[in-house]
Amino acid sequence: MSVRVLPEIRTLPPLVVNQIAAGEVVERPASVVKELVDNAIDSGATQIGVELEQGGIELVRVTDNGCGIPAEQLPLAVAPHATSKIRDTADLDRIATMGFRGEALASIASVSRMSIRSRTAADAGAMRLDIEGATSGSPRPDAGPVGTSVSVRNLFFNTPARRKFLRTAQTEQGHASEIVRELALAHPAIGFTVKCDGRITLDLPPNQSPRERALAVIGGEMESQYLEVNADQFDDARGLVLWGLAGLPVLARPTPKWQHLFLNGRPVRDRTIQHALKEAYRGLVEPGRHPAALIMIEMDPGAVDVNVHPAKSEVRFRDSGVVHKTVYLSVREALRRADLTPATAPEASSPGVQGWRFEPTVAIQSSAPPVPSRFADAFQQMPPVTRKFEFLAPAPSVRAPIEPAPAVSPDGPLPQPVDAAIPAPAPSQRVLQVHNSFLVTQDEHGVVIIDQHALHERVMFEKLKVRLDEARAGGGGLESQSLLVPAVVPTTPQRIELVQSLASMFKRLGITLEPLGASALGVQAFPTFLFERGVDPAEFIGELLDRAEAEPETFSQSSVSTAEEAALHEVLDMMACKAAVKAGDQMSQQELAELLALREEIERSSNCPHGRPTALRLTIKELERQFGRS
Ligand code: ADP
Ligand code: MG
Repeated sequence: MSVRVLPEIRTLPPLVVNQIAAGEVVERPASVVKELVDNAIDSGATQIGVELEQGGIELVRVTDNGCGIPAEQLPLAVAPHATSKIRDTADLDRIATMGFRGEALASIASVSRMSIRSRTAADAGAMRLDIEGATSGSPRPDAGPVGTSVSVRNLFFNTPARRKFLRTAQTEQGHASEIVRELALAHPAIGFTVKCDGRITLDLPPNQSPRERALAVIGGEMESQYLEVNADQFDDARGLVLWGLAGLPVLARPTPKWQHLFLNGRPVRDRTIQHALKEAYRGLVEPGRHPAALIMIEMDPGAVDVNVHPAKSEVRFRDSGVVHKTVYLSVREALRRADLTPATAPEASSPGVQGWRFEPTVAIQSSAPPVPSRFADAFQQMPPVTRKFEFLAPAPSVRAPIEPAPAVSPDGPLPQPVDAAIPAPAPSQRVLQVHNSFLVTQDEHGVVIIDQHALHERVMFEKLKVRLDEARAGGGGLESQSLLVPAVVPTTPQRIELVQSLASMFKRLGITLEPLGASALGVQAFPTFLFERGVDPAEFIGELLDRAEAEPETFSQSSVSTAEEAALHEVLDMMACKAAVKAGDQMSQQELAELLALREEIERSSNCPHGRPTALRLTIKELERQFGRS
């Protein structure tokens, strides 16, 4: 057997050291743009210009009107581990600048041909320093205004292996422009221009408000698609300021690319914030999609560690719970305030073609007292055990005889409900069931068409949540029923472990599971209302465990306390869906009226828990337009 002998250990030459560092920081022209613009922001500039040639592969130039670099310090600026931004370890704990590692210029210079021209307010003229690889000349006089301009040419000219990884100029230009847009969103007081191969592609004036800047970057026509988010009203958020825009549920995308998250002016990717957003939109967007949002958080630099990622795009919060809660509560509040019922209207761009368009209107608080309904009354008077899901309770097979849905004439009154003791639905509650699937009614804006299953599912979900909270206050779980003979769910040893780790969640849901040997679980108790709606316990638990295995992130109960909430919500979604009235189920006038009354009560009734809309609205204005009356 041959013994391997390693060559002698040596200290690497500085150029190689810098190139290794560049490997972490400089991936493509966009990374150069980011580091140079970061420096320009730190310099106190009010105007920053970015020029790209060939998407930045040939040239990236960033010019600012900031403080400049004194001539004698120019060589230091490109030396590794040389920075003006921190002095000692203590400073590392409270970083208020974009940069602090002192390696960006050195790294970039080691893989390109760099030239820096700079002038401070005290200097009579500018000075210029050219660096190629490890060699830099000495600064010589040049013409130029106060500020700094850094030019980076021929990126990776001396590291051909990395140059090969560059994409087309167009792709690189896209990435680079995206970085500038991101930084511009974070710094609305600074003016930004981007010029690509001589053509101006972005021009943002200085001194914009965060809102003006956001609309300038994402497009002013998007204004109606976003809701403003503010964290002022939350006491817990002391020491933390939040402003943002929350996109309507329709803007959600399969990837988080429409999420812009900023911490103290730094664009970040952060799982805590992403998770909080996902939770805030729970029920409004489908689980696999990511809501569009812009969230800007300002907090004490001492409360967050930015020194966890070479490109500084990730952070670690000292107290991620506060951040999570603030984002979650403020976004949820913004969504709650908005009436998310979609309006139907032809697309402005395609006249004559009927399309659906979201038209959010701020929820109009009706001054009239809530419509009395048997359900609502029952909910208040009955003891906790039975006062839920009154009309929802009978399983389809044992439902009371069904009345035919009434014919409706546009201006005649609807037939009264059969039971005279029950007050007639208020005018806003007139309702017609069509094709046993949709309900047609009106509100102050026009005609509202409701998907009966989606709405019932949403109502069930919210009621279940309330029941669960009540049960928790009393230290218990959902009302459940014991099975005489346990329902058997085939399983694996891993699943038995999973069930054990989810024990407290099952307890709250009123579900009791016991292992029956190594390959089966027995369902010993099951929520009463699911029984009543004819849901099969073994099937339900099987599906629940499938989901828990497929989404370990949601169902891991270890870290944050929000994890249990997320898992619970997931299961409530499932329960609500299984228990809700299906499309095709005929409903009595009474049931229809009750469901509609609930719609008014329930937060977010405009979307089912899966994120599909529960209702669409055809406005009077739109009707008048379609009939040629206006
Ligand atoms: P860092 O930003 O982490 O300090 P860099 O290598 O990016 O490290 O920059 C090194 C130093 O050069 C900075 O600390 C700063 O003093 C100076 N510098 C770089 N760019 C500029 C600029 N545009 N304006 C003023 N000073 C700059
Ligand atoms: Mg820097």
